[in-house]
Amino acid sequence: MAQSILYYSTNHAAPKISFGDALLQGLAPDKGLYMPDAIPVFSSEEITGFSQKPYAEIAFAVFSKFFGNEVPANTLKTMCQEAYTFDIPLEAVVDNKYIMRLDQGPTASFKDFAGQMMGRLMQFFLQKNNAHKLILTATSGDTGSAVAHAFYKRSNIQIAVLFPESEVSDRQRKQMTTLGKNIQIIAIDGKFDDAQAMVKEAFSDPDLRHLELTSANSINIGRLIPQIVYYIYAYSRLATSKDQPILFSIPSGNFGDMMGCVLASKMGLPVKKILIAVNQNNEFETLLRTQKYAKIEPSINCISNAMNVGHPSNLARVIELYGGNMDEKGIITKNPDYTLLQNDFFAVSVSDELTKQTIARTWEQYNVLLEPHGAVGWRCVEEYCAQNPTENNALIVSLETAHPAKFPQAIIEQTGVNPELPPSLQNLDTLPEQFDRVQGNYATFKKYLLEKYS
Ligand SMILES: *Cc1c(COP(=O)(O)O)cnc(C)c1O
Repeated sequence: MAQSILYYSTNHAAPKISFGDALLQGLAPDKGLYMPDAIPVFSSEEITGFSQKPYAEIAFAVFSKFFGNEVPANTLKTMCQEAYTFDIPLEAVVDNKYIMRLDQGPTASFKDFAGQMMGRLMQFFLQKNNAHKLILTATSGDTGSAVAHAFYKRSNIQIAVLFPESEVSDRQRKQMTTLGKNIQIIAIDGKFDDAQAMVKEAFSDPDLRHLELTSANSINIGRLIPQIVYYIYAYSRLATSKDQPILFSIPSGNFGDMMGCVLASKMGLPVKKILIAVNQNNEFETLLRTQKYAKIEPSINCISNAMNVGHPSNLARVIELYGGNMDEKGIITKNPDYTLLQNDFFAVSVSDELTKQTIARTWEQYNVLLEPHGAVGWRCVEEYCAQNPTENNALIVSLETAHPAKFPQAIIEQTGVNPELPPSLQNLDTLPEQFDRVQGNYATFKKYLLEKYS
């Protein structure tokens, strides 16, 4: 594997670095996001060949292309085999349309696909450099548990997760607070926005530099590359002829998931269109329609709560890939090719009312149980087919990004079904919880970090 891809910053004012360094840094020093300086491709023969291969082998093939020169092949292969031990059900709904359930991992959301690999990769590069990192994450629910499980018991890594005590469900809290070891969970008496602001301030505080802070959210390139694999996997299982086109519908918040699909497409997967499903936080849908961008501040509270994002951080990467530029404040300093963007993407904003109706209707009509995020995705498929009737028999895969049992309330209300807990969520009630409480202001939080980690 002689080729070597380097990673550049979307703000173009930081040196290109290796994958391992980009993974450990998270954000580039010029506040831009790291992107590969070349996107490797698969031939259509290679893609056809994946139909016989297990998920872990497809993952290995993708990762080898992006950073195979940095991790020994045997080590990388073992990481993939250990990370991807769970099922990826592809459920036929109607015509040639499928739901891909990305909810069988340890925390029952799609974030496990990236988390499981990132934990292993970060440990590998830290051990190699004889270095340590403290990963700081603010969560409104899903990210915190996926990050905590991904890094649980990994050496050279400490985790601190901040969450707003009053905004996280019991089940979400227990997924984080029952681990212990290198995982520290911190409740604050504020809102998610406060937690997020405290984490951001800590990253830029020179007094905390010695703590070697870094982030594991989707600004990190290490989150995106693993998210390429399930698109290729779905295609390998569902395509019935060589080069058959496929469409994906992706429930989106910070657009990390959709970046995986964009990269898969640039790698040669015959993706005809990417359907972007958003809730009432519709800044991307508006951008596509009007070519004008405005953040939504504060973000709107919708029932698909993991997608309540008023300024998706990965938009800078999308704009970059389409020839434009967006700075860290969300200002477009150079226009992307809007014609190409409109050709490759179709976006729909779905209200809570329609989300609920979709949960009820897919259950009634197809016996398919969706939670709010997946329902937003499916509604987008329906809207696309209504506007493009010739596409009714196209191969379309809609992503279910969390397990229905994580959002029982909306589902019981709409269907009367109380979704069964997956094994990963079953024993939570019997395990002891442990977490600290910190007042929701930066000074107190900083003192806490210095006392605990210096
Ligand atoms: C994080 C999350 C999303 C949004 O994913 P992005 O990569 O931020 O667009 C959608 N659904 C669920 C359940 C999530 O946890």
